[in-house]
Amino acid sequence: MNLQTIESAITAYPICAYAFIQIQDIHFKEEVRHICRTECPRYGKSWSCPPAVGTVEECKKRCEAYEGGFLFTTMTEVSDIENMDELLSTRAEHEKLTHQIRELFQNQQQETLTLSTESCAVCQRCAWPDAPCRFPDRMLPCMEGYGILVTGLAEQCGIAFLSGNNLVTWFSLILYRESHSQERV
Ligand code: SF4
Repeated sequence: MNLQTIESAITAYPICAYAFIQIQDIHFKEEVRHICRTECPRYGKSWSCPPAVGTVEECKKRCEAYEGGFLFTTMTEVSDIENMDELLSTRAEHEKLTHQIRELFQNQQQETLTLSTESCAVCQRCAWPDAPCRFPDRMLPCMEGYGILVTGLAEQCGIAFLSGNNLVTWFSLILYRESHSQERV
């Protein structure tokens, strides 16, 4: 894949920071999964989160089947960082952008696995566990659910994420490999 083509193309999008990473840069931690299990209200509520995504080991293996990764952030200002509704309302734009960036990779004949922050919010009520995911192509599994400490990975890659009181940073990670087939989750 031509990384320069991707780098040229992303200048047209409001990406705040990005890094191309090696798959071995990603650390999969049971401790992160433990936080999901014990502290996140979305645990066991979505196809995009554990336990539906499989064990941390299974997530690691799935990611290791890819050749490289593209980690990027967007940043949005809110009037009050404590207002969770306002904060979460900024996420849709980031997800939309994530799909657009994923398409850049797919246009380069790359098969992708795209992870994002937070549990999938495409449907009002997730089909899990009674029926398959309704929109597998729109659903982006949560990075933390895979056992990835997002802030740790960002620090490793030199991506800043604490930029001020009312600034929200959203992350996405696109894993890619040569293929002509569709994304598999
Ligand atoms: S697209 Fe719908 S069914 Fe699939 S994970 Fe998201 S909320 Fe659940």
